[in-house]
Amino acid sequence: MERVDAIVVGAGIAGASAAYALAEHLSVALVEREAIAGYHTTGRSAALYTESYEKGPVQLLTLASSGFLRRPPDGFTTEPLLSPLPVLYVATEAQRATLDRIVTDVAGRTELRSVEGDELATLCPALRRDRIVAGLLEPAAHEIDVHALHQGFLRGARRRGATIWLDAPVVAIGRTSGRWHVRAGERSFAAEVIVDAAGAWADEVAAMAGVTPIGLTPMRRTAFTFDPEGHDLTGWPIVVDADERFYFKPEVGQLMGSLAEETPIEPCDVRPEEIDVALAIERITRATDFEIRTVRRTWAGLRTFAPDRLPVVGAEPSVAGFFWLAGQGGYGIMTSPAMAQLTAALVADHELPPELAEVRAAVSPSRLR
Ligand SMILES: Cc1cc2nc3c(=O)[nH]c(=O)nc-3n(C[C@H](O)[C@H](O)[C@H](O)COP(=O)(O)OP(=O)(O)OC[C@H]3O[C@@H](n4cnc5c(N)ncnc54)[C@H](O)[C@@H]3O)c2cc1C
Repeated sequence: MERVDAIVVGAGIAGASAAYALAEHLSVALVEREAIAGYHTTGRSAALYTESYEKGPVQLLTLASSGFLRRPPDGFTTEPLLSPLPVLYVATEAQRATLDRIVTDVAGRTELRSVEGDELATLCPALRRDRIVAGLLEPAAHEIDVHALHQGFLRGARRRGATIWLDAPVVAIGRTSGRWHVRAGERSFAAEVIVDAAGAWADEVAAMAGVTPIGLTPMRRTAFTFDPEGHDLTGWPIVVDADERFYFKPEVGQLMGSLAEETPIEPCDVRPEEIDVALAIERITRATDFEIRTVRRTWAGLRTFAPDRLPVVGAEPSVAGFFWLAGQGGYGIMTSPAMAQLTAALVADHELPPELAEVRAAVSPSRLR
């Protein structure tokens, strides 16, 4: 039996970042059911860093992550974690009011600028001018190198002494004499604290520990890639429908498209639905001159939400030593540095920096009890 201060369940971006941050103060074991860390949602995202996509606490967590993503600690990675990828929200005549709402929601925390006419056409020449009449540009958004970020967290956690176990599904959790006993595959662990970073399965892991589920809902989102059909994608932004009914973004010589749907589904190794790809193609082709005759690759991922759509980060009020790090929805990559820092400070009982103290109550599981 391995004895540790903290066992982290799930080696997606949430668990990997938490193990990295916790291992600075505590002995840590990170356990993952799959043979590959990042096999589920973390490996299936759109990899975007945007300060305008969410408001309130999520926006604050995004802003609090920006320093780490822009200037990671020495030795964390050899790759830059961010590369420029502006976000362009686009609107038909009927959607103009939605653009105004986005500006209000962002409330001056990041630069957004209206674009129309020729500038819209220059930013994305594929847009149909008879249909898309207005846009809103977030020039300082970025694409995240998710692989480099995730591997940086895993490598850094190991360097700080954490042990990482793949093919190690947590199947039983018990508590005796104030200590957790966790069986993960062939291995057993004793720990003071469990950090539940099991993504779509976080409620299932909580139930194993005798903790009342928080009411998380995994939602399927489908994505696919297609050819740019003669367009040179250099400098293109990610183009997002103002009501988020589709988006497409440049991705190494291809375009990635999505219906941006949210379909509730049980936790699983989720697959794309053909109908969602077809609907996305219909919406994208209505807004652009693309024909999309060939789809290269399709996939789907689970974005998991708490009932109020805010992340759940903090100690379970009813059960000592159980810590939630769940409900990362559609922003778990870009907020991971701040959420991990918050987790480590709360678990190790350290003082929070002001920007995290501000969001602590809003993301605490106590709000849902
Ligand atoms: C199409 C799409 C686009 C997205 N775009 C963005 C974006 O642009 N920017 C952004 O920031 N976010 C984006 N997201 C959201 C982001 O990907 C997620 O918020 C994030 O990956 C969640 O990470 P996680 O570690 O919580 O979950 P996961 O990556 O799913 O990790 C959870 C892990 O827990 C493991 N696990 C579960 N149960 C057990 C058990 N019993 N024992 C051991 N291990 C277990 C699982 O195997 C899994 O590996 C997007 C998501 C999708 C699907």
